[in-house]
Amino acid sequence: MDLHEKVSIVTGGSRGIGRACCHALAAAGSTVAVNYLSRKDAAEKVAEELRSHGVQANAYRADVSDEEQTNVMIEQIMNDFSRVDVIVNNAGITNDRSFLKMTKDQWHKVLLVNLDGPFNVISAILPQLCERKWGRIINISSIVAQMGNFGQSNYAVAKGGLIAFTKTLAREVAAKGVTVNAVAPGFIETDMTAKVPDSALEIIKKLTPMGRLGQPDEVARAVRFLAAPQASFITGQVINVNGGMYM
Ligand code: NAP
Repeated sequence: MDLHEKVSIVTGGSRGIGRACCHALAAAGSTVAVNYLSRKDAAEKVAEELRSHGVQANAYRADVSDEEQTNVMIEQIMNDFSRVDVIVNNAGITNDRSFLKMTKDQWHKVLLVNLDGPFNVISAILPQLCERKWGRIINISSIVAQMGNFGQSNYAVAKGGLIAFTKTLAREVAAKGVTVNAVAPGFIETDMTAKVPDSALEIIKKLTPMGRLGQPDEVARAVRFLAAPQASFITGQVINVNGGMYM
């Protein structure tokens, strides 16, 4: 799993699954750009932890749903590290409500971050991946795209769209040496699931053959595998990391 000489960007790298991805990629030797939205301290801490393990890393603020902010961030990363080889589109939000009560604003916000975000990041970086004929794009989708979930029509659409985007882009850039894959986590113990009521978490555990929530580093290990040179013939795939909840 050698990613020395590679530069990775992890969106939403300040917490949860993104933070674990930053650590996993750095452990394979990659330089890491840690993107965040509002938790500057948390992102700076992640970058500092990575540097203390001997790799280059910096934190970059940008709202990935904003194309201009995203472009400015990519420019900063290019100034600092000269290239980006691995994209992990991890930044994501939920804004739950049953569809009967959902507002257009709630619908749009979730699509903007979870689907336009990856569009903005990939658009800014893809030309250089194609030019160098090597690149890895890993989109963090969700089990909710595959199973649906009460109160999450906006999120399910965004994450389902991300799988469709993954497969289409994989076909378009396969011959250019760029792989595009998705990881679909089940329910993982992070700030996102901390908002879920305990009673609902108990049901989720019962529906998961492994009987527990996943840990962020269990997702990050799949991401690191897809980023590695060893995953060279894998593209357009969805890797499920869900304790068997969806098979
Ligand atoms: P989390 O703990 O809530 O962390 C979200 C991360 O995204 C934070 O780093 C946050 O930055 C960043 N972020 C949010 N909006 C952003 C924006 N507009 N621009 C840039 N960064 C933004 O989430 P998580 O549970 O680790 O989830 C990570 C990804 O996995 C998401 O895409 C989520 O949908 C997906 N996922 C999660 C689960 C789960 O059970 N946890 C399951 C399936 C899929 P700040 O720290 O600066 O706020």
